[in-house]
This record gives sequence, C-alpha cells and structure tokens, in this order.
Amino acid sequence: MPEEYERIRYDVPAEHVARITLARPEMRNAQDYLMLHELDKAFQRATTDDDIKVIVLAADGPHFSSGHDLASTATGADFEPRCMTGGYAKPGQEGGMANEEEFYLGMCWRWRNIPKPTIAQVQGKVIAGGLMLIWPMDIIIAAADATFADPVVAFAVNGHEYHTHTWEVGPRKAKEMLFSGKPLTARECEKLGMINHVVPRDELEQFTLKMATDFARMPSMGLKLAKLSVNGALDAQGQWTAIRNAFALHQTGHANARAVHNGFPVDPTGIDRIRELSKS
Ligand code: ZN
Repeated sequence: MPEEYERIRYDVPAEHVARITLARPEMRNAQDYLMLHELDKAFQRATTDDDIKVIVLAADGPHFSSGHDLASTATGADFEPRCMTGGYAKPGQEGGMANEEEFYLGMCWRWRNIPKPTIAQVQGKVIAGGLMLIWPMDIIIAAADATFADPVVAFAVNGHEYHTHTWEVGPRKAKEMLFSGKPLTARECEKLGMINHVVPRDELEQFTLKMATDFARMPSMGLKLAKLSVNGALDAQGQWTAIRNAFALHQTGHANARAVHNGFPVDPTGIDRIRELSKS
C-alpha cells in the first residue's frame, strides 16, 4: 500500500535511487510537524526498501526551505511518535523540549545515521531549520543561487536545533554565521567544505541524479561500511555529545525566553531582524 503525503513527494527517478521532495513551495517549504513527520516516514520507507541504494532530498520551487513554520500550532501529541520521546502536551519548556526532541533532534539524528548514501539537492534560500534538513545528509549539491543562513541568535537562542555548525563550516565561520545571522553563499560554503559541488541552477537536478546513479553502481554493503566509517570518525570526535550539549543550551534559551517574554518561547524582539536577514 503506497504511503500518501501532503507536504512531500516520493519517487524513484532512476534505478535504485529514491527521491524525497519538499512540496510546499507556496510556503517556501516551511517545515511544520506534518512535513517533518512525513519526511521521517519517507526516509524510513527508502531505508527499508532493499531495492533502494541512494536517497536524494530535493525541494520544489525557488527556495529549498525557510525553516520552521512558526505559525503551526500542532504538537507531537497529534502524531504517532517516531522517536523515543513523550510529554509533547506538557506545559512550559518540558513540552517544548519534548517536541523539539521528537521533530528536530531525534529525526535529524535518525536521518544522519541512515545506512545508505543521502544527497541534498539545494537551491535558493536555506534558512535556520532548512539547514537542519541538509546537514544530516552525506552530500550537498547546491545551485549557484543557494544561500545558507542561521539568523536565530536574534531570537536569543544558539542557532537551530541540529547544531553541527562547527563541523560544517569550521569554528570561526560557525561563530561568524551565528553572531551575524548573515547568509553564506554557495561558493563560500564550497570553499569551506560544507558543499560538495556548486552547479548552475538548470543543471542541478541532472547533476544530482548522475551522482546518485554513480553511487548506486557500488555494492550496498560497501556504501554502508564507508558511511559508517566516516560517521564513526565524527563520533570519535564527540559529535553527538556536542550536538546534545548545544541542544541543552538551546532549551535554556527557550526557557529563558518563556520566563522573560510571557511564555513565548523565543525573544520576540528578534523577529524584525530575522525578517530583514532572511531577505538578504
Ligand atoms: Zn528550538
């Protein structure tokens, strides 16, 4: 029985290649919990389908993703849980943390550990939570127009919830991108090692599919062992411990905002600055 989706699409564009596409372009692919839940189900479907060897994550429209859909009011209690969490409907930061463990930290970590190569195909703006979708992928291919920003320090938190900035762009650029909130270009990110290739916008899909089909010519066991080996090196550097630590600090930011700003989980005075930065 094929799965039905509202926020994404799932197809098999080439032999042994699954493609998951964010399909909410009218909202710049803003992520509500339904989208993240569907993404997790689609990743699991591709992971457990033995005919699939490589997974591509793409997006419809001019922009990959504008981040979390802040207008969404759903909680984890509205969905069947995908991760070992609970307490989604609890008041205060207990509930806030539970939802972010389920939909952000938990899912990103599951996707990071999929035992098959994953490739993000990226165009346009990638803002805050948008980074949270591409950084768990193994490979990132970007159109020349792509830009990457995490402006949420303006909300008085420490960045989006999957805090691998230091590995993605190096410690100095990580600090600059967080402190300024300004976007990095695809070319800058390629130099920093965050992006594998920058290609013209009209060649993005073909370039990504060619890479995916090349990968798919390798045996699945070799692909899995290679991925585990590189991820094991990141694990040996303490990547998960660092992500968890940053997540705890992130929760401190939300808890502080709730205390200072009448229960609102972020500093609302940052909204104008984030809007301004998101336009740049
Ligand atoms: Zn958060």
